[in-house]
Amino acid sequence: MGVSEKLRVFLKKFLYGDGLTCVACGAELFGEEPFCPSCLKSLPFHRGHICSKCGRDIGGDYPVCAECKADMPSYGRARSVFSYEKDAVRMIRAFKTGKKYFAEIFGAEMAKKAKEYFPDADLAVFIPMTARAEKKRGYNQAELLAEVVCRETGIPLGRDVLVKTRDTGEQKTLTRKERAENLRGSFRVHERTKCRGKKILIIDDVLTTGATANAAAEALLRAGALRADVLTVACVPRKGEKEVK
Ligand SMILES: [Zn+2]
Ligand SMILES: [Zn+2]
Repeated sequence: MGVSEKLRVFLKKFLYGDGLTCVACGAELFGEEPFCPSCLKSLPFHRGHICSKCGRDIGGDYPVCAECKADMPSYGRARSVFSYEKDAVRMIRAFKTGKKYFAEIFGAEMAKKAKEYFPDADLAVFIPMTARAEKKRGYNQAELLAEVVCRETGIPLGRDVLVKTRDTGEQKTLTRKERAENLRGSFRVHERTKCRGKKILIIDDVLTTGATANAAAEALLRAGALRADVLTVACVPRKGEKEVK
């Protein structure tokens, strides 16, 4: 066992108590994975074909899904660890309601995706919250994820690059079109010089309609970024009219 593995085991024991247990179901663990073999099998990891643009599961070996084809997103590519369903929903809800340690688990999985799909990224940013929203939750979950991803991949983290210009409110009840409208121009780039000519990775928790990621990507591209890709813990499988967040 190498030093870093020992450290990892120690950290896990420290974070989760004496017994190493699966973060999804609580079963006892014997290996290095955060999930037990049964959860590794049942968790909604992307296994089949995904849309090359938005990264959502797609029925057949098509290049892009129907939604992307009809309305091509501004970001380069979006990739995620899970499809937002089953136990992934439960874990992400827990993460957003106090269980901050999920950032370590999710971030490590996201870092693997970053290495696979965005090995040339030269800056990472996260979707900012308004000060009021962050105060209410106590933390910005996207920032916690970005910290882990950047630590694991070595991609520099641009903390104040992306700024939310106004409170866009709860989006739960909005339709896809209303969301896009609501988000238009809601992000601003604070440090344009940091973006110019860069391949930027936008980090968030869930890709829902993609309207948030798109608005952020557009702000980064306007500021001179060469490319703006998206990395999330999960993506909502179908683009319905009313979605989570
Ligand atoms: Zn399990
Ligand atoms: Zn797509």
